Amino acid sequence: MSPDGQTLPPDCHAAEPIPEAARAEIDRLLSSGDLFRYTAPKDAPVALLEAEFAELMGVRYALAVSSCSAALFLSLKALDLPRGAKVLIPAFTFAAVPSAVVHADCVPVLVEVGDNYRVDMADFAAKLDEAQAVMISHMRGHTSDMDAILALCDARGIPVVEDAAHSLGTLWGGRKIGTIGRVGCFSFQSYKMVNAGEGGMMITDDPEIAARAIIMSGAYEDNWKKHPGLQNSFGAWQNKLPLYNLRMQNLSAAVIRPQLPALAGRVERGRAGHDRVAAQLNTSAWLSVPEALAPELRAPDSIQFNLTGDWTDDEARAFQRAAKARGVGVQVFGLSEGNARAFWNWQFLGDQPDLPQTRAMLMRACDVRLPVRLTDAELDFIAGAVLAAVQDVKA
Ligand SMILES: *Cc1c(COP(=O)(O)O)cnc(C)c1O
Repeated sequence: MSPDGQTLPPDCHAAEPIPEAARAEIDRLLSSGDLFRYTAPKDAPVALLEAEFAELMGVRYALAVSSCSAALFLSLKALDLPRGAKVLIPAFTFAAVPSAVVHADCVPVLVEVGDNYRVDMADFAAKLDEAQAVMISHMRGHTSDMDAILALCDARGIPVVEDAAHSLGTLWGGRKIGTIGRVGCFSFQSYKMVNAGEGGMMITDDPEIAARAIIMSGAYEDNWKKHPGLQNSFGAWQNKLPLYNLRMQNLSAAVIRPQLPALAGRVERGRAGHDRVAAQLNTSAWLSVPEALAPELRAPDSIQFNLTGDWTDDEARAFQRAAKARGVGVQVFGLSEGNARAFWNWQFLGDQPDLPQTRAMLMRACDVRLPVRLTDAELDFIAGAVLAAVQDVKA
């Protein structure tokens, strides 16, 4: 609030304090210097986090690593795909996803995405026969049709990896996102639901994939004995796989663990805040917030909406400037120079076929952060500023 009682533009980029409970544990780690996950004989913070995360998700194995990108890379390595294997990924995702595929010596094949930000199932089905794996990126927490994807992939024996970096807490038909594919990967980078600065988690029920990933993450010599439940598999893989050293360290786990009990509440608040803003934006004929798919219960910490009807690029840019002048930053994925979520900027992939449908979506899809901590007044301020910015351009 400003002194005259008006709501000021909220700061959508500042982080939130880490729960106080992290402080004592971090002090303990600092005074002992016990930062490496494999130094303690048992109950290292990273090992406790893995057990807690596996329990939270209802899976057999969880492996904490340095980032979601590391988890995605390890997932593909653990699937033991041949060099050059084609991996389908949605064309709307973050550049780290095709990068993880390239890092794993595989070749990404980009699949068209609809104007609801989800995988276009016709293009997916058309490209699936050439694929040896599928990596579904639930970009900005939008879930693609996992029933259709799993049905097609299971029929062909093609493994599915879920990039659930931004989907922690999302449900699909009552099942937790990240547990539907063979492997699920999560991020603890600062702009996700759980903030450790950096960090990632890989989950699976498959003991062979878990064993291979754990060894390759850097469980050298006998350190695999500190991961529960895999003794036989480890014996077979020890020293047969490279060690990529993508481990998480204890300080990160100490930051993450006290945030997990707060997750369910944060997901509820994020969804309520998102839906509050969405209802207001949908009153404009010039904007539309795509609906969630029927089985999907989302966990958003940002909102995406399309500029609908006739908009030129110049008008879309004018809308962004007008929103900015009113205190709200709006990203149009395809309009900012070098945006890491626009597939044509992934020059490291070399020449790629164009994806006109995804391109058209990216040129009109807007993105506004809605941190879970925002008050209703702040959410209404954002919705009001966006609606007023539309009027500035279109009135
Ligand atoms: C953040 C994000 C990533 C990358 O996560 P890191 O932990 O930063 O490597 C990958 N995919 C999606 C959809 C993301 O949102």
